Amino acid sequence: MSATTYILAGWLIDGSGGPVQDKVLLKIVDGRFAGIDKFVPGDGLDLDQVIDFSHCTILPPLVDSHVHLFMSGTTSRPAREHQLVADYDQLRPVISQHLHYLFSHGVLAVRDGGDKGGYALAFRQTKEMHPEVILKAVGRGWHLQGRYGGLIGRCPGQGESLVAACGREDQAIDQVKVVNSGFNSIKVFGLETEPQFSTAELTEVVVAAAKTGKKVMVHANGREPVRRAILAGCHSIEHGFFMGRENLELMAEKDTFWVPTVFTMKAFAANFAHVGSHADLQVIEKNLQHQLGQLTLARQLGVNVALGTDAGSLGVLHGESMVEEMKLFQKAGYSLAETIRCATSNGARLLGLDDFGLLVKGKAATFLVARGAPSQLPRKLSYLESIYLNGQPSALYRKNPVKNITTQG
Ligand SMILES: [Zn+2]
Repeated sequence: MSATTYILAGWLIDGSGGPVQDKVLLKIVDGRFAGIDKFVPGDGLDLDQVIDFSHCTILPPLVDSHVHLFMSGTTSRPAREHQLVADYDQLRPVISQHLHYLFSHGVLAVRDGGDKGGYALAFRQTKEMHPEVILKAVGRGWHLQGRYGGLIGRCPGQGESLVAACGREDQAIDQVKVVNSGFNSIKVFGLETEPQFSTAELTEVVVAAAKTGKKVMVHANGREPVRRAILAGCHSIEHGFFMGRENLELMAEKDTFWVPTVFTMKAFAANFAHVGSHADLQVIEKNLQHQLGQLTLARQLGVNVALGTDAGSLGVLHGESMVEEMKLFQKAGYSLAETIRCATSNGARLLGLDDFGLLVKGKAATFLVARGAPSQLPRKLSYLESIYLNGQPSALYRKNPVKNITTQG
């Protein structure tokens, strides 16, 4: 016998970027959407059988396309320094808590951008893994000897090519992460660093990764590092500060994803006292404005933008930073529905999740319930009314055991 549930949504945002719908009746059969239609009162439906969310907005589960689960985003310097050197056993409760934070903010799928021990990837393979969050992990990223990237990865051996190094990678990884520039400068405005790898080296990695169905995500700032990654066929550009118009046009043409991590700059500005001496507040604020300008342009050009927070970066907290990043998308000119598309279905595509991110007939009935009208969003994502998984309310939502974790800060 099939189980049928009816849900009345006050408003529905389906993740396609299309207009917000109001008074929508969701018919769910065996955990999947069997109908999504305008609600017509007195349509032969027994209203006692309908779950009434007419005071709520229903939207797809969020996807954070860029986090680092081993770091907490704390502004405490001792805590950050500890997280950078802590071993797997010390970081396990930290990673676990971050997954709970993500889940409680409606982030049901997340891509970890790497840590130097491959800890997030190892954690996913244990029974401690959060049962209701999908984690895609790159393990450890690759960078060139002597260049930026040591915090989240390692470098190929002496005389070893990048593609050969990737070839001895843990096969459990979901995507390959390559670092192809320096850190975006918060001291010198618009400073561009040399690329770490050539287009040919990156192309080899893309071709090799494709043989096992893996995508390549590339940390890149500045025109040349980004240009090479796009030309090589890499799937997503992470950060992309100061990449410029030509790269955005190329990304639109080649369907490359961009994960702009704008909030990182706002968080640096807000927590400037904790950033350290290698920074200039005015430069950080100009970086933020420049990145918002690039995002506005990306929207106009039709670039595939997936929302990612870089949670774990200073002041960028797991879960709640999604709301902050979404607000910045709106500031750059994205409508609420377009912002939610970047934070849901675009992220799902980038992570390779087919049955996730769009609320349409035939797909899994996995969604978030936010109390209030769409005008309350994205703020209300931090106080969700409910989370539904395959047609059923999650039993785990709000049952978040808070432990005393000294490493967390
Ligand atoms: Zn990152």
